[in-house]
Amino acid sequence: MEKRYVYSFGEGLAEATADMKDLLGGKGASLAEMVSLGISVPPGFTITTEAYRLFFDSGNRLPHKLWAEILEHLGKLEDRLGKKFGNASHPLLVSVRSGARVSMPGMMDTVLNLGLNAETTQGLGRQTDNTRFALDCHRRFIAMFGNVALGIDSLKFETLLAQKKKRLNIQFDNDLTPQNLESIIRQFRALIIKNIDQEFPDTPTAQLKQAVQAVFLSWNTPRAVAYRKLNHIPDDWGTAVTVQAMVFGNMGPSSATGVAFTRNPATGEKKFYGEYLMNAQGEDVVAGIRTPHPIALLETEMPDAYHSLAGVYQKLENHYLDMQDLEFTIENGHLYMLQTRTGKRTVSAAIKIALDMVQEGVISKQEALMRIPADQMDQVFHPMIDPKAKVKTLTKGLGASPGAATGKIVFTPERAQELAGKKERVILVRMETSPEDFHGMSVSQGILTARGGMTSHAAVVARSMGKPCVSGCADLDVNVKKKKGSLNGTPIKELETITLDGTTGQVILGTVPLIRPRHTSNITRMMSWAREIRTLQVRANADTPHDAFVARDFGAQGIGLCRTEHMFFEADRILLMRKMILTDDAKKQAETLKKLLPIQRGDFTHIFKVMEGLPVTIRLLDPPLHEFLPNTTKEIKILARDMKLSQTALVKKIVSMRETNPMLGLRGCRLGIVFPEIYRMQVRAIIEAASKLVRKGVKVYPEIMIPLVGHVNEFKTVRDEIVAVAEEVIKKAEVKLSYKIGTMIELPRAAITADEIAREADFFSFGTNDLTQTTFGLSRDDAGSFLADYLENGVLEKDPFVTIDQTGVGSLVKIAAQKGRAVNPDLHLGVCGEHGGDPASIEFFHTLGLDYVSCSPYRVPTAILSAAQASIKHR
Ligand code: PEP
Ligand code: MG
Repeated sequence: MEKRYVYSFGEGLAEATADMKDLLGGKGASLAEMVSLGISVPPGFTITTEAYRLFFDSGNRLPHKLWAEILEHLGKLEDRLGKKFGNASHPLLVSVRSGARVSMPGMMDTVLNLGLNAETTQGLGRQTDNTRFALDCHRRFIAMFGNVALGIDSLKFETLLAQKKKRLNIQFDNDLTPQNLESIIRQFRALIIKNIDQEFPDTPTAQLKQAVQAVFLSWNTPRAVAYRKLNHIPDDWGTAVTVQAMVFGNMGPSSATGVAFTRNPATGEKKFYGEYLMNAQGEDVVAGIRTPHPIALLETEMPDAYHSLAGVYQKLENHYLDMQDLEFTIENGHLYMLQTRTGKRTVSAAIKIALDMVQEGVISKQEALMRIPADQMDQVFHPMIDPKAKVKTLTKGLGASPGAATGKIVFTPERAQELAGKKERVILVRMETSPEDFHGMSVSQGILTARGGMTSHAAVVARSMGKPCVSGCADLDVNVKKKKGSLNGTPIKELETITLDGTTGQVILGTVPLIRPRHTSNITRMMSWAREIRTLQVRANADTPHDAFVARDFGAQGIGLCRTEHMFFEADRILLMRKMILTDDAKKQAETLKKLLPIQRGDFTHIFKVMEGLPVTIRLLDPPLHEFLPNTTKEIKILARDMKLSQTALVKKIVSMRETNPMLGLRGCRLGIVFPEIYRMQVRAIIEAASKLVRKGVKVYPEIMIPLVGHVNEFKTVRDEIVAVAEEVIKKAEVKLSYKIGTMIELPRAAITADEIAREADFFSFGTNDLTQTTFGLSRDDAGSFLADYLENGVLEKDPFVTIDQTGVGSLVKIAAQKGRAVNPDLHLGVCGEHGGDPASIEFFHTLGLDYVSCSPYRVPTAILSAAQASIKHR
């Protein structure tokens, strides 16, 4: 049988079914399904997504055979309705609509009222006894077709119309007289000749051909392409096109058009929700020219139509078992449905609807969990820009850490601290951040940087602190010295107020009203279901007692990564750290470490207490030492005085420590091997803190983690040091304390030789940030400059620092897990890179049978839900 590309539908005729969504697009499939359900829809036909591919492969042309098939179905439609294309007394008018397999609201094009020319307009006027209505349709058609099919900016038509109304002193389109409309039509036609040097096509079949082609082409408009990228929709799906007999909401006072949701899409409340406009066509509702009425009013304005609509919406929700988004038209009192689709909703609404539907016995708990967008869970807890507020966005960067914040601009971490000390709310604005900005970041409301991607330092730290961050904002320029800068050309200066939205990446000058969503009983209930179902455990990356507290509150089952370096950046500690690093005198070094010991012990004591009864993985110092060294003249001066050294000598020493490639230099366990005193101090602090608590009856489970191991001998060397110190402390304290020693797996060599390492280690924690960096050979701090290009051009489908690259980096994780467990069945396996909070990566880690993922505290709910979804999906 020859392949068919067109399927008809209409009362008593449905050549397709709802499960043909891939072929017919969401709209085409839902129209066919509504016909099967006995719901009134205007008849028509759908041209498939396969036809789109044929069109595309034919160089954006409709091949003859395809066009013939379309005309054949057009003929059937004419016969069914007793109307004809181009016929002056009974003209057939159609809409030509796009519809991909998933809804891409507003991204592609539509043409309404197709089939009109001077004669058919007259015919339509006679037929409906309403010349004004016919002329109104005609002017709408010319503008819409002119824009979609002929490529003329719609603003040009709108401007002409607005000028006309102004001249006539008319507010609403509805008040234009037939004479006014005729004059507008003449102007529109002239506008087209002026723009494309061609007459407006008046033959309906020519109009149809051009419109179908234009709608197909709208699959590739920049906004559609951008939308697909953002929503991971493959480019090769293509769109279907539905050609459907027109019904008119603008036929007079007993006609209307509207959109509705079967439940409230913002809150999830079980209440019919929507808007409509009397005497109008679809685009008027969306365009917001007139304010539509709330749907409840329709019950008084057109009770019969309202009751039909109420019946239909319930029928559709019962049929699809989910909240529906509907489009309808009422023509002379008769209700027609134009579309039904699964309605988009906020996360809070998604949760409420899913839980309500379980309560109503409509769906199972598992189905409910699958319906909640795990990657958007954090929206529920972060402050956000009040959706009702009108905001003017100055520019956009990467939405690197969700939530919104307002504060005064500062350009240095020192200034941030100073002002925060005076209870000012500040936003730290930097070209980029490094670990030494940490103290400034921690007191800021939010962080804005010009450079860096989703795993740049600013982004990782901000997420771990639950602070909004917009990174990679290319339009930002900063002049720290002059305390000013610019954003997309607009000058900014210190202390000016700014608002960031780290969810969307928006940057706004001035204040914007923010609202803070709360833990609701719905979220608590949903999370308890998720916890019952998931098998993968969820821990948190937390460096402070506060982070640990937040993580535990969200249901974290331990700390999977406590980065100790952040503890040394506070003002009094950094000075000690610098002295320790820069002195050559072993005695002085020991003295400084002695001073750091009680400080570290205090840090761990607090965290252990908050996490009582749960494991806490503490990573020994990891970053290259130079990150702790002073940069500014002022800092060098202070330190030189303190160390009783000349500034020149100090600078010389600092310079000698500089590395060409510090990320591959003296960092991680290499530090621990070259300067064992630092790790010894840290281990002592951990075990002393734990021992003291154990004595008090507090349950503590320390896990000591060695970073950046590439060779088993590195692991053994450091482990032996750890054991020596730990046993000495435990013996002295006379307590029973068990602890684990494990390693990060963040270098390809470690993954490949995982069996050798696993024989010696209690646990592995995959540092997928560094493992991605080292496997790709792609610097996590510099990738921002070209990764965007890679994603744009499809070289990479996803940012590998956000979603694990399963085939490359993921294979190393798989190999290491298998090799490790083969020699050490008790080996505990986790992930503590940023991927631990990414739903797609979590699903992958679940399939590998890992024990846990660890992510920033605010991502814990996302991770728990993702783990549950992975369990359900791979049962
Ligand atoms: C990692 O590399 O994945 C990791 C968790 O460590 P860090 O980000 O601190 O380098
Ligand atoms: Mg690392």
